[in-house]
Amino acid sequence: MISKPKGTVDLTDKKARCWKYVEEVIDSVMEKYNYNYIRTPIFEASELFHRGIGDSTDIVTKETYDFKDRGDRSITLRPEGTAGVVRSYIENKMYGKNNLPVKVYYNGTMYRYERPQKGRLRELSQYGVEVLGSTDPMMDAEVISLAYNINKMLGLTDTVVHINSLGDKESRDKYREALKSYFKPHLDDLCDDCKERFDKNPLRIIDCKIDSNKDYFKDAPNILDYLNKESKEHFEKVCEYLDILEVKYVIDPKIVRGLDYYNHTVFELMTEESNLALGGGGRYDNLVSTLDGPETSCVGYAVGLDRLVDLLMEKELTTNVRDYIDAFIMYVNEDEKKNAIYLANELRMSGFVVETEYTKKSLKSQFKRADYFNSKYLILLNSDDLNEGLVTIKNNKTKEEEKIMMEYIIYYFDEHISDDNLPIDYHNHDEEEV
Ligand code: AMP
Repeated sequence: MISKPKGTVDLTDKKARCWKYVEEVIDSVMEKYNYNYIRTPIFEASELFHRGIGDSTDIVTKETYDFKDRGDRSITLRPEGTAGVVRSYIENKMYGKNNLPVKVYYNGTMYRYERPQKGRLRELSQYGVEVLGSTDPMMDAEVISLAYNINKMLGLTDTVVHINSLGDKESRDKYREALKSYFKPHLDDLCDDCKERFDKNPLRIIDCKIDSNKDYFKDAPNILDYLNKESKEHFEKVCEYLDILEVKYVIDPKIVRGLDYYNHTVFELMTEESNLALGGGGRYDNLVSTLDGPETSCVGYAVGLDRLVDLLMEKELTTNVRDYIDAFIMYVNEDEKKNAIYLANELRMSGFVVETEYTKKSLKSQFKRADYFNSKYLILLNSDDLNEGLVTIKNNKTKEEEKIMMEYIIYYFDEHISDDNLPIDYHNHDEEEV
Protein backbone atom coordinates (compact mmCIF):
# COMPACT_ATOMS: atom_id res chain seq x y z
CA MET A 1 0.00 0.00 0.00
CA ILE A 2 1.25 3.47 -0.84
CA SER A 3 0.78 5.94 2.02
CA LYS A 4 0.38 9.67 1.83
CA PRO A 5 3.57 11.69 2.30
CA LYS A 6 4.50 12.68 5.85
CA GLY A 7 2.88 15.92 6.95
CA THR A 8 -0.05 15.76 4.51
CA VAL A 9 -3.71 15.01 5.16
CA ASP A 10 -6.63 13.56 3.24
CA LEU A 11 -9.74 15.63 3.59
CA THR A 12 -12.82 13.39 3.62
CA ASP A 13 -16.36 12.90 4.92
CA LYS A 14 -17.72 15.32 7.49
CA LYS A 15 -14.44 17.20 7.79
CA ALA A 16 -14.49 17.79 4.04
CA ARG A 17 -18.04 19.15 4.28
CA CYS A 18 -17.02 21.35 7.20
CA TRP A 19 -14.09 22.61 5.13
CA LYS A 20 -16.36 23.51 2.20
CA TYR A 21 -18.74 25.26 4.58
CA VAL A 22 -15.86 27.32 6.03
CA GLU A 23 -14.81 28.26 2.50
CA GLU A 24 -18.36 29.35 1.71
CA VAL A 25 -18.43 31.59 4.78
CA ILE A 26 -15.05 33.06 3.83
CA ASP A 27 -16.21 33.71 0.24
CA SER A 28 -19.41 35.34 1.36
CA VAL A 29 -17.80 37.60 3.97
CA MET A 30 -15.05 38.61 1.52
CA GLU A 31 -17.74 39.61 -0.94
CA LYS A 32 -19.34 41.94 1.63
CA TYR A 33 -15.98 43.59 2.30
CA ASN A 34 -15.35 43.86 -1.46
CA TYR A 35 -12.18 41.73 -1.53
CA ASN A 36 -11.53 40.06 -4.90
CA TYR A 37 -10.48 36.43 -5.11
CA ILE A 38 -6.98 35.98 -6.48
CA ARG A 39 -5.22 32.76 -7.47
CA THR A 40 -1.48 32.67 -8.02
CA PRO A 41 0.73 29.66 -8.86
CA ILE A 42 1.57 27.05 -6.24
CA PHE A 43 5.18 27.13 -7.45
CA GLU A 44 7.19 30.25 -8.18
CA ALA A 45 10.79 31.14 -8.97
CA SER A 46 12.82 30.42 -5.82
CA GLU A 47 14.22 33.94 -5.88
CA LEU A 48 10.78 35.40 -5.12
CA PHE A 49 10.77 33.87 -1.66
CA HIS A 50 14.46 34.41 -0.92
CA ARG A 51 14.24 38.07 -1.82
CA GLY A 52 10.68 38.61 -0.64
CA ILE A 53 10.23 36.75 2.61
CA GLY A 54 13.86 37.12 3.56
CA ASP A 55 16.85 34.90 4.04
CA SER A 56 16.78 35.15 7.82
CA THR A 57 13.41 33.45 8.30
CA ASP A 58 13.00 29.78 9.08
CA ILE A 59 10.46 29.16 6.39
CA VAL A 60 12.95 30.20 3.72
CA THR A 61 16.24 28.97 5.19
CA LYS A 62 15.09 25.60 6.50
CA GLU A 63 11.63 24.77 5.28
CA THR A 64 11.15 25.41 1.59
CA TYR A 65 10.55 22.69 -0.97
CA ASP A 66 13.10 23.69 -3.61
CA PHE A 67 13.82 21.85 -6.80
CA LYS A 68 15.17 22.28 -10.29
CA ASP A 69 12.61 21.72 -13.01
CA ARG A 70 13.44 19.95 -16.27
CA GLY A 71 14.52 23.27 -17.75
CA ASP A 72 17.03 23.72 -14.89
CA ARG A 73 15.06 26.56 -13.31
CA SER A 74 15.10 26.98 -9.53
CA ILE A 75 11.55 26.49 -8.38
CA THR A 76 10.02 26.67 -4.89
CA LEU A 77 6.64 25.44 -3.74
CA ARG A 78 5.13 28.50 -2.10
CA PRO A 79 5.53 28.48 1.70
CA GLU A 80 3.08 31.38 2.11
CA GLY A 81 0.73 33.46 0.00
CA THR A 82 1.90 37.05 0.24
CA ALA A 83 4.98 36.95 -1.99
CA GLY A 84 3.01 35.48 -4.91
CA VAL A 85 0.25 38.06 -4.58
CA VAL A 86 2.79 40.89 -4.51
CA ARG A 87 4.58 39.41 -7.54
CA SER A 88 1.25 39.28 -9.35
CA TYR A 89 0.41 42.86 -8.32
CA ILE A 90 3.68 44.07 -9.82
CA GLU A 91 3.66 41.84 -12.90
CA ASN A 92 0.07 42.70 -13.78
CA LYS A 93 0.62 46.38 -13.00
CA MET A 94 -2.43 46.46 -10.78
CA TYR A 95 -1.15 49.78 -9.46
CA GLY A 96 -1.55 51.38 -12.88
CA LYS A 97 -5.27 51.72 -12.42
CA ASN A 98 -7.26 54.17 -10.38
CA ASN A 99 -8.26 51.46 -7.95
CA LEU A 100 -6.01 51.69 -4.92
CA PRO A 101 -6.02 50.12 -2.50
CA VAL A 102 -6.26 46.76 -4.25
CA LYS A 103 -8.04 44.35 -1.88
CA VAL A 104 -7.65 40.64 -2.61
CA TYR A 105 -8.01 37.31 -0.85
CA TYR A 106 -6.67 33.84 -1.60
CA ASN A 107 -7.20 30.33 -0.38
CA GLY A 108 -4.79 27.52 -1.14
CA THR A 109 -2.10 25.09 -0.14
CA MET A 110 1.34 26.12 1.14
CA TYR A 111 4.40 23.90 1.60
CA ARG A 112 6.82 23.94 4.52
CA TYR A 113 9.28 21.21 5.39
CA GLU A 114 8.47 21.28 9.10
CA ARG A 115 8.60 18.55 11.70
CA PRO A 116 5.02 17.21 11.48
CA GLN A 117 3.04 17.35 14.73
CA LYS A 118 -0.45 18.38 15.82
CA GLY A 119 -1.37 21.55 13.95
CA ARG A 120 1.86 21.50 11.97
CA LEU A 121 1.72 20.03 8.49
CA ARG A 122 4.03 20.06 5.50
CA GLU A 123 1.19 20.71 3.10
CA LEU A 124 -1.00 23.23 4.87
CA SER A 125 -3.85 25.40 3.64
CA GLN A 126 -4.28 29.06 4.30
CA TYR A 127 -6.79 31.66 3.36
CA GLY A 128 -5.50 35.18 3.52
CA VAL A 129 -6.03 38.76 2.44
CA GLU A 130 -3.68 41.38 1.10
CA VAL A 131 -4.45 45.06 0.75
CA LEU A 132 -2.00 46.93 -1.45
CA GLY A 133 -1.79 50.69 -1.65
CA SER A 134 -2.91 52.25 1.62
CA THR A 135 -0.94 53.56 4.59
CA ASP A 136 -4.07 54.36 6.57
CA PRO A 137 -4.33 52.68 9.99
CA MET A 138 -8.00 52.24 9.12
CA MET A 139 -6.84 49.57 6.68
CA ASP A 140 -4.93 47.68 9.39
CA ALA A 141 -8.08 47.77 11.52
CA GLU A 142 -10.33 46.59 8.67
CA VAL A 143 -8.07 43.67 7.89
CA ILE A 144 -7.86 42.62 11.55
CA SER A 145 -11.60 42.91 12.05
CA LEU A 146 -12.21 40.94 8.85
CA ALA A 147 -10.24 38.00 10.27
CA TYR A 148 -11.98 38.42 13.60
CA ASN A 149 -15.44 38.59 12.04
CA ILE A 150 -14.94 35.50 9.90
CA ASN A 151 -14.11 33.58 13.09
CA LYS A 152 -17.21 35.08 14.68
CA MET A 153 -19.41 34.06 11.73
CA LEU A 154 -18.07 30.53 12.15
CA GLY A 155 -19.12 30.52 15.80
CA LEU A 156 -15.68 31.14 17.31
CA THR A 157 -16.72 33.79 19.78
CA ASP A 158 -13.59 33.56 21.92
CA THR A 159 -11.08 34.90 19.38
CA VAL A 160 -8.62 37.37 20.84
CA VAL A 161 -6.31 39.34 18.60
CA HIS A 162 -2.79 39.76 19.99
CA ILE A 163 -1.48 42.94 18.49
CA ASN A 164 1.82 44.76 18.53
CA SER A 165 3.71 47.37 16.56
CA LEU A 166 7.19 46.95 15.12
CA GLY A 167 7.20 50.62 14.17
CA ASP A 168 8.93 52.09 11.15
CA LYS A 169 12.53 51.46 10.18
CA GLU A 170 13.92 54.15 12.48
CA SER A 171 12.06 52.76 15.51
CA ARG A 172 13.04 49.21 14.67
CA ASP A 173 16.71 50.05 14.18
CA LYS A 174 16.79 51.63 17.62
CA TYR A 175 15.00 48.65 19.12
CA ARG A 176 17.30 46.19 17.40
CA GLU A 177 20.33 47.91 18.93
CA ALA A 178 18.69 47.88 22.36
CA LEU A 179 17.96 44.17 22.02
CA LYS A 180 21.51 43.39 20.99
CA SER A 181 23.02 45.22 23.93
CA TYR A 182 20.52 43.55 26.24
CA PHE A 183 21.13 40.01 25.02
CA LYS A 184 24.89 40.31 24.43
CA PRO A 185 25.83 39.22 27.97
CA HIS A 186 23.50 36.21 27.58
CA LEU A 187 24.69 35.22 24.13
CA ASP A 188 26.33 31.98 25.27
CA ASP A 189 23.17 30.93 27.02
CA LEU A 190 20.88 31.43 24.00
CA CYS A 191 19.81 28.51 21.82
CA ASP A 192 21.68 27.91 18.56
CA ASP A 193 18.90 29.50 16.50
CA CYS A 194 18.90 32.61 18.66
CA LYS A 195 22.68 32.88 18.43
CA GLU A 196 22.18 33.13 14.69
CA ARG A 197 19.21 35.48 15.07
CA PHE A 198 21.33 37.78 17.24
CA ASP A 199 23.07 39.14 14.16
CA LYS A 200 20.54 38.46 11.44
CA ASN A 201 17.19 39.22 13.04
CA PRO A 202 17.38 39.91 16.80
CA LEU A 203 13.64 40.66 16.98
CA ARG A 204 12.98 36.97 16.50
CA ILE A 205 14.79 36.21 19.76
CA ILE A 206 11.77 37.69 21.55
CA ASP A 207 9.38 34.96 20.40
CA CYS A 208 11.82 32.05 20.59
CA LYS A 209 9.97 28.97 21.77
CA ILE A 210 13.05 27.62 23.56
CA ASP A 211 14.54 30.69 25.21
CA SER A 212 11.62 32.96 25.93
CA ASN A 213 10.81 31.43 29.33
CA LYS A 214 14.26 32.17 30.68
CA ASP A 215 14.41 34.59 33.59
CA TYR A 216 16.32 37.36 31.89
CA PHE A 217 13.70 37.54 29.11
CA LYS A 218 11.29 39.24 31.52
CA ASP A 219 13.23 42.48 31.50
CA ALA A 220 14.08 42.48 27.80
CA PRO A 221 13.42 45.81 26.08
CA ASN A 222 9.84 46.36 24.89
CA ILE A 223 9.39 47.52 21.29
CA LEU A 224 6.58 49.85 22.27
CA ASP A 225 9.08 51.95 24.25
CA TYR A 226 11.11 52.49 21.10
CA LEU A 227 8.40 53.69 18.71
CA ASN A 228 8.94 57.15 17.31
CA LYS A 229 6.11 59.68 17.14
CA GLU A 230 4.65 58.60 13.77
CA SER A 231 4.84 54.93 14.62
CA LYS A 232 3.17 55.51 17.95
CA GLU A 233 0.40 57.54 16.33
CA HIS A 234 -0.20 54.85 13.72
CA PHE A 235 -0.49 52.17 16.39
CA GLU A 236 -2.80 54.27 18.57
CA LYS A 237 -5.10 54.89 15.60
CA VAL A 238 -5.25 51.17 14.79
CA CYS A 239 -6.29 50.45 18.38
CA GLU A 240 -8.84 53.27 18.33
CA TYR A 241 -10.44 51.89 15.15
CA LEU A 242 -10.41 48.36 16.54
CA ASP A 243 -12.39 49.68 19.52
CA ILE A 244 -14.99 51.11 17.13
CA LEU A 245 -15.13 47.76 15.34
CA GLU A 246 -15.57 45.98 18.68
CA VAL A 247 -12.68 43.63 18.10
CA LYS A 248 -11.42 41.91 21.24
CA TYR A 249 -7.64 42.47 21.35
CA VAL A 250 -4.70 42.62 23.72
CA ILE A 251 -1.46 44.47 23.18
CA ASP A 252 1.26 41.85 23.23
CA PRO A 253 4.86 43.06 22.73
CA LYS A 254 5.97 39.45 22.24
CA ILE A 255 4.34 39.28 18.81
CA VAL A 256 7.10 39.94 16.30
CA ARG A 257 6.08 37.49 13.52
CA GLY A 258 8.48 35.26 11.68
CA LEU A 259 8.84 37.08 8.41
CA ASP A 260 11.31 39.83 7.63
CA TYR A 261 8.99 42.10 5.73
CA TYR A 262 6.70 43.36 8.47
CA ASN A 263 6.66 46.86 9.92
CA HIS A 264 4.17 48.79 12.09
CA THR A 265 1.17 46.61 13.00
CA VAL A 266 1.67 42.89 13.54
CA PHE A 267 -0.96 40.59 14.99
CA GLU A 268 -1.92 37.01 15.70
CA LEU A 269 -5.34 35.45 16.08
CA MET A 270 -5.65 33.31 19.18
CA THR A 271 -8.55 31.56 20.81
CA GLU A 272 -8.85 31.27 24.56
CA GLU A 273 -8.57 27.48 24.61
CA SER A 274 -6.01 26.88 21.92
CA ASN A 275 -2.43 27.94 22.44
CA LEU A 276 -1.75 27.56 18.73
CA ALA A 277 -2.26 30.70 16.67
CA LEU A 278 -5.01 30.39 14.10
CA GLY A 279 -3.49 33.06 11.95
CA GLY A 280 -1.47 36.18 11.82
CA GLY A 281 -0.35 39.06 9.71
CA GLY A 282 0.54 42.68 9.67
CA ARG A 283 1.69 45.66 7.70
CA TYR A 284 4.46 45.37 5.14
CA ASP A 285 5.37 48.64 3.49
CA ASN A 286 8.60 47.61 1.78
CA LEU A 287 7.92 44.28 0.13
CA VAL A 288 6.56 45.66 -3.16
CA SER A 289 9.62 47.86 -3.67
CA THR A 290 11.98 45.04 -2.59
CA LEU A 291 10.48 43.02 -5.44
CA ASP A 292 11.05 45.90 -7.90
CA GLY A 293 7.54 47.37 -7.80
CA PRO A 294 6.64 50.95 -6.90
CA GLU A 295 6.61 52.04 -3.24
CA THR A 296 3.36 50.54 -1.97
CA SER A 297 2.15 50.19 1.60
CA CYS A 298 0.38 46.93 2.30
CA VAL A 299 -1.31 45.03 5.05
CA GLY A 300 -2.56 41.46 5.18
CA TYR A 301 -2.92 38.24 7.11
CA ALA A 302 -3.20 34.47 6.67
CA VAL A 303 -5.25 32.00 8.65
CA GLY A 304 -4.52 28.27 8.71
CA LEU A 305 -7.58 26.43 7.42
CA ASP A 306 -6.40 23.09 8.84
CA ARG A 307 -6.28 24.49 12.36
CA LEU A 308 -9.49 26.45 11.88
CA VAL A 309 -11.47 23.43 10.69
CA ASP A 310 -9.97 21.18 13.40
CA LEU A 311 -11.03 23.68 16.03
CA LEU A 312 -14.59 23.90 14.69
CA MET A 313 -14.84 20.12 14.68
CA GLU A 314 -13.40 19.85 18.20
CA LYS A 315 -15.83 22.45 19.50
CA GLU A 316 -18.67 20.89 17.52
CA LEU A 317 -19.39 24.21 15.85
CA THR A 318 -20.73 22.34 12.88
CA THR A 319 -24.48 22.87 13.05
CA ASN A 320 -24.39 24.59 9.67
CA VAL A 321 -22.50 21.73 8.06
CA ARG A 322 -25.01 19.53 6.26
CA ASP A 323 -25.12 16.04 7.73
CA TYR A 324 -28.25 14.76 6.00
CA ILE A 325 -29.79 14.30 2.59
CA ASP A 326 -33.31 15.40 1.72
CA ALA A 327 -34.52 12.18 0.17
CA PHE A 328 -33.51 8.64 -0.70
CA ILE A 329 -35.40 7.11 -3.62
CA MET A 330 -36.03 3.37 -3.28
CA TYR A 331 -37.02 0.87 -5.97
CA VAL A 332 -36.74 -2.78 -6.93
CA ASN A 333 -37.62 -3.48 -10.58
CA GLU A 334 -36.56 -1.90 -13.88
CA ASP A 335 -39.75 0.09 -14.36
CA GLU A 336 -39.43 1.60 -10.88
CA LYS A 337 -35.75 2.24 -11.52
CA LYS A 338 -36.56 4.39 -14.57
CA ASN A 339 -38.90 6.46 -12.44
CA ALA A 340 -36.19 6.72 -9.79
CA ILE A 341 -33.72 8.03 -12.36
CA TYR A 342 -36.28 10.54 -13.59
CA LEU A 343 -37.32 11.69 -10.11
CA ALA A 344 -33.79 11.99 -8.76
CA ASN A 345 -32.94 14.23 -11.69
CA GLU A 346 -36.04 16.42 -11.26
CA LEU A 347 -35.52 16.85 -7.53
CA ARG A 348 -31.78 17.53 -7.79
CA MET A 349 -32.38 20.15 -10.46
CA SER A 350 -34.92 21.77 -8.14
CA GLY A 351 -32.27 22.09 -5.44
CA PHE A 352 -32.84 19.05 -3.23
CA VAL A 353 -30.12 16.71 -2.02
CA VAL A 354 -31.14 13.32 -3.32
CA GLU A 355 -29.64 9.86 -3.31
CA THR A 356 -30.87 6.63 -4.84
CA GLU A 357 -29.81 2.99 -5.24
CA TYR A 358 -27.11 1.93 -7.71
CA THR A 359 -26.16 -1.63 -6.81
CA LYS A 360 -29.38 -3.63 -7.07
CA LYS A 361 -29.53 -4.08 -3.30
CA SER A 362 -32.63 -5.29 -1.46
CA LEU A 363 -35.12 -2.83 -0.01
CA LYS A 364 -33.77 -3.69 3.43
CA SER A 365 -30.26 -2.60 2.42
CA GLN A 366 -31.70 0.51 0.83
CA PHE A 367 -33.34 1.47 4.13
CA LYS A 368 -29.96 1.05 5.82
CA ARG A 369 -28.21 3.17 3.24
CA ALA A 370 -30.85 5.88 3.60
CA ASP A 371 -30.18 5.90 7.34
CA TYR A 372 -26.44 6.03 6.73
CA PHE A 373 -26.99 9.29 4.85
CA ASN A 374 -29.44 10.50 7.47
CA SER A 375 -32.13 10.94 4.86
CA LYS A 376 -35.04 13.15 5.92
CA TYR A 377 -37.49 11.45 3.56
CA LEU A 378 -37.76 8.14 1.78
CA ILE A 379 -39.46 7.96 -1.57
CA LEU A 380 -40.74 4.44 -2.18
CA LEU A 381 -41.54 3.52 -5.74
CA ASN A 382 -43.64 0.50 -6.64
CA SER A 383 -45.10 -0.39 -9.99
CA ASP A 384 -48.75 -0.60 -8.86
CA ASP A 385 -48.68 2.91 -7.43
CA LEU A 386 -46.72 4.28 -10.35
CA ASN A 387 -49.41 3.02 -12.73
CA GLU A 388 -51.79 5.35 -10.93
CA GLY A 389 -49.25 8.19 -10.90
CA LEU A 390 -48.59 7.82 -7.18
CA VAL A 391 -45.48 7.54 -5.00
CA THR A 392 -45.13 6.86 -1.30
CA ILE A 393 -43.27 9.41 0.78
CA LYS A 394 -42.14 8.47 4.23
CA ASN A 395 -40.87 10.88 6.84
CA ASN A 396 -37.81 9.01 8.06
CA LYS A 397 -38.03 10.55 11.53
CA THR A 398 -41.73 10.35 12.41
CA LYS A 399 -42.13 7.27 10.17
CA GLU A 400 -45.41 8.75 8.91
CA GLU A 401 -46.07 8.01 5.29
CA GLU A 402 -48.47 9.16 2.65
CA LYS A 403 -49.17 8.58 -1.02
CA ILE A 404 -49.00 11.63 -3.24
CA MET A 405 -49.23 12.35 -6.94
CA MET A 406 -45.73 11.97 -8.38
CA GLU A 407 -46.07 15.12 -10.45
CA TYR A 408 -46.47 17.16 -7.26
CA ILE A 409 -43.43 15.82 -5.53
CA ILE A 410 -41.40 19.00 -6.00
CA TYR A 411 -44.20 21.09 -4.47
CA TYR A 412 -44.37 18.60 -1.62
CA PHE A 413 -40.65 19.00 -0.91
CA ASP A 414 -40.92 22.75 -1.32
CA GLU A 415 -43.49 22.76 1.44
CA HIS A 416 -41.88 20.21 3.74
CA ILE A 417 -38.21 20.96 3.26
CA SER A 418 -37.89 24.51 1.94
CA ASP A 419 -39.14 27.51 3.86
CA ASP A 420 -42.01 28.30 1.48
CA ASN A 421 -45.35 26.97 2.60
CA LEU A 422 -47.50 26.43 -0.42
CA PRO A 423 -51.08 25.53 0.50
CA ILE A 424 -51.57 22.79 -2.06
CA ASP A 425 -53.39 19.49 -1.72
CA TYR A 426 -51.02 16.93 -3.17
CA HIS A 427 -53.35 14.00 -2.80
CA ASN A 428 -55.93 14.82 -5.36
CA HIS A 429 -55.13 16.05 -8.81
CA ASP A 430 -58.58 17.48 -9.55
CA GLU A 431 -58.84 19.46 -6.33
CA GLU A 432 -55.49 21.16 -7.00
CA GLU A 433 -56.72 22.38 -10.37
CA VAL A 434 -59.72 24.15 -8.83
P1 AMP B 1 2.24 32.03 9.19
O1 AMP B 1 2.17 32.19 7.69
O2 AMP B 1 3.42 31.21 9.63
O3 AMP B 1 2.07 33.30 9.92
O4 AMP B 1 0.99 31.14 9.58
C1 AMP B 1 -0.31 31.62 9.58
C2 AMP B 1 -1.20 30.51 10.04
O5 AMP B 1 -1.09 29.40 9.15
C3 AMP B 1 -0.82 29.93 11.39
O6 AMP B 1 -1.39 30.67 12.43
C4 AMP B 1 -1.43 28.55 11.29
O7 AMP B 1 -2.82 28.55 11.53
C5 AMP B 1 -1.20 28.19 9.85
N1 AMP B 1 0.05 27.41 9.72
C6 AMP B 1 1.31 27.85 9.60
N2 AMP B 1 2.18 26.85 9.49
C7 AMP B 1 1.44 25.71 9.54
C8 AMP B 1 1.74 24.32 9.46
N3 AMP B 1 2.98 23.89 9.29
N4 AMP B 1 0.71 23.45 9.54
C9 AMP B 1 -0.56 23.86 9.69
N5 AMP B 1 -0.90 25.16 9.76
C10 AMP B 1 0.08 26.08 9.69
